[in-house]
Amino acid sequence: PALHQQRHQFVINFVKMKKPKMVADLGCNDCKLLKQLKFHREIELLVGVDINGDVIKKKMRGLAPLSANYLQPTCDQLCVELYQGSVTQRDARLRGFHLVTCIELIEHLTLTDLDHFTAVVFGYMTPLSVIISTPNSEYNALLPGLSGFRHRDHKFEWNRAEFRSWALKVCLKYSYKVEFTGVGEAPLGMQDSVGFCSQIGVFYRLEGCTGCNVLPFSDEEDVSPYTLLYSVKY
Ligand code: SAM
Repeated sequence: PALHQQRHQFVINFVKMKKPKMVADLGCNDCKLLKQLKFHREIELLVGVDINGDVIKKKMRGLAPLSANYLQPTCDQLCVELYQGSVTQRDARLRGFHLVTCIELIEHLTLTDLDHFTAVVFGYMTPLSVIISTPNSEYNALLPGLSGFRHRDHKFEWNRAEFRSWALKVCLKYSYKVEFTGVGEAPLGMQDSVGFCSQIGVFYRLEGCTGCNVLPFSDEEDVSPYTLLYSVKY
């Protein structure tokens, strides 16, 4: 399968295993991942956020229930919400999720915005788990015809050591632990020296292991700068 599908499949496998009830996809683009996630009935609230409202709007109606969902309702309920907004800004509606996914998002942020993103996601949204994927620059030498970054909008591409050092700092500051993995394997014999094409960090909040997602900042003022573009209840 294509690399973007492998990244989405990684998230789907995680969802099957951990059964998060509230999932937010940051940088959801045209909602491709969300459309696959809506079939996982443990999820009760599925939220997508992207700074580009037009790209969300293009295909968001594909998230509507199929007529079969009305004719044969399951006892589960699902609510889907899509927002136009920036991950550098806090929005109270995104707090306390079980899983937040950021697939090929962080490399589109300047390093200043990356700091804001980190504070928003790990310090304010405080989800139980976070999946972050980003290009592994060590793999670039294996990509034919590539000079420079993989995409002209990328602000950086990190090697494994750089991603690791950023992730470990995030963990120390915000009380998370992280496991490193990836998708897109290098050819046999090069796997250790090069690593995966997309590197992935799976973060878990340390004090959140009891299953009940307690919010530490209940005295925060209510902020909701994101614009709701679409909302549907199954
Ligand atoms: N996550 C999708 C995937 O798995 O294919 C799309 C990744 S796409 C390479 C990066 C997305 O991040 C784009 O849709 C872009 O509009 C969005 N984005 C960039 N900066 C953002 C920001 N500050 N806040 C929210 N979304 C942002």
